[in-house]
Amino acid sequence: MLNVDLHCHSTISDGVLAPDLVAARAAANGVDVWALTDHDEVRGIPKARAAAIDLGMRFVTGLEISVTWAGRTIHIVGLNVDETNEDLLAGLVMTRSGRQRRAEDMAADLARVGIPNVYQGALKYVGNPDLISRSHFARYLVEIGVCENVSAVFKKYLTEGKPGFVPHRWATLAEAVGWIRRAGGVAVVAHPGRYDLSAIAFDAFFREFKVYGGAAIEVVTGSHTVAQYHEYTKVAKRYGFMASRGSDFHAPDEMLPDLGCLPPLAKELIPVWNDWLE
Ligand code: AMP
Ligand code: MN
Ligand code: MN
Ligand code: MN
Repeated sequence: MLNVDLHCHSTISDGVLAPDLVAARAAANGVDVWALTDHDEVRGIPKARAAAIDLGMRFVTGLEISVTWAGRTIHIVGLNVDETNEDLLAGLVMTRSGRQRRAEDMAADLARVGIPNVYQGALKYVGNPDLISRSHFARYLVEIGVCENVSAVFKKYLTEGKPGFVPHRWATLAEAVGWIRRAGGVAVVAHPGRYDLSAIAFDAFFREFKVYGGAAIEVVTGSHTVAQYHEYTKVAKRYGFMASRGSDFHAPDEMLPDLGCLPPLAKELIPVWNDWLE
């Protein structure tokens, strides 16, 4: 069976390895079909693709777009896109544009609770000046000993209601799915188990996603528990979505699982990669 991993990050967004090193790690872990899906960015794709081909992996062009839906942040993965599509590129420029200001506001909020200079500190971890993210803040807060690890940071800081959280408006769901589809790609709901939505809101969300042409959800992802693999297998079947598999790898030793180290999709699911691999 093919080892397929269609979700991970490089230094072009909030991962700690450069695109070619993420490729090398995927190959070393036995991945056969691989996508790099940086947040709101495709500029890692050329190096990732070249490295993947060198290493004998099948490469899928991908990204992960930040969306605001009903006041919540939702991530939409785009797979098999043309990363040179102008609509997509313009959309990504727009989606990234608020990050700088947001980061300054986050740092100001942390300064108010007695943690100064976090903006400058976080910048040391940023690989792409257009993509400063909460992950970079989290790594710096670990460095200065405010928290033991990155997960602990997100429990105490940077999330709704906690110091360092700044509400933000990302792309709309219609925009993100539209950009992906116009670039020839498939839109996939990233880690659905992570969103704090009621059953009714989830139903509305999945229906709306489908109306815009969204076609798949992640079922087996590093963000899901085993119970959630089963839950989202049922969801995929109920709504007629294809299913994806991806680790959401960011950094060695930061969060489990590693690239390619996930269970397979249930046999009853239609893998999102079915049509691409003859
Ligand atoms: P941003 O796009 O700046 O809002 O940052 C979002 C990123 O923060 C996600 O893609 C994750 O990499 C990271 N993140 C969010 N919540 C958590 C969490 N609870 N634990 C670890 N990382 C998280
Ligand atoms: Mn991330
Ligand atoms: Mn995500
Ligand atoms: Mn991700």
